[in-house]
Amino acid sequence: MTPPAFSPVALRFENIDKRYGGLLALRGVSLTVAPGECAVFAGRNGSGKTTLLRIAARLVRPSRGSLSFSNSSCDDEKSPVRPGFVAHATMVYDELTAEENLLLFARLQTVSRPERRVEALLEEVGLSDRRASLVGTFSRGMRQRVAIARALLHEPAVLLLDEPATGLDPPGVAWLAEAIRRLRDSGRTILMSLHGESEISSLGTRAIRLDAGSVVADTRTGATFRSVLTFADA
Ligand code: ADP
Repeated sequence: MTPPAFSPVALRFENIDKRYGGLLALRGVSLTVAPGECAVFAGRNGSGKTTLLRIAARLVRPSRGSLSFSNSSCDDEKSPVRPGFVAHATMVYDELTAEENLLLFARLQTVSRPERRVEALLEEVGLSDRRASLVGTFSRGMRQRVAIARALLHEPAVLLLDEPATGLDPPGVAWLAEAIRRLRDSGRTILMSLHGESEISSLGTRAIRLDAGSVVADTRTGATFRSVLTFADA
């Protein structure tokens, strides 16, 4: 097996607030997620999970507090860590084929030897034989595979997945679980938001619950997985 093309990275949120007008979407979130950890974020709709992942992806700036990445062999100021982000909407172009989508994003991200990388990723996500099909003809599960390949183009050490299992049928969920297991076991730092207990949540090495923008439970500080992942919907 070839060694990973990334160095392990820890991610740290320090006292993060995010304000949207009069609404405080995140309130004083402080957390460190270690390399190799697969942290599952649970919480009701509107509790702040997506906002936290978008801050980690550097798509949104916190109103207060800071996000940092630590990596023994690289300085984030000089060579910023770029997490891979699989958003809830798959963010791929329907009018392009799977291969064209990946080549486009590979070139935008200045991935070296883009054709080779895209070929390897199409193989890895099981889409080699559908490479020339328009993404507009794909099922949700196939689009999700393209989105995951897209997020992995630059060999990110940190992977962010926002409700990755939503809309997938049971075979799609089984495929996703296996893919996340492999990514977790490769030493990547994974943060994902989920609803409830599932085949996917069982991959978590840690679970954290957000409520109204605050961390209210964390298996790291003694909560059980079950109590973090299951909660009565108000
Ligand atoms: P979750 O992912 O847990 O459902 P979100 O992070 O999407 O929660 O949302 C947290 C809160 O922030 C919600 O009240 C939501 O309406 C609000 N919010 C999220 N994004 C925006 C935005 N761009 N503008 C205004 N409010 C937002």
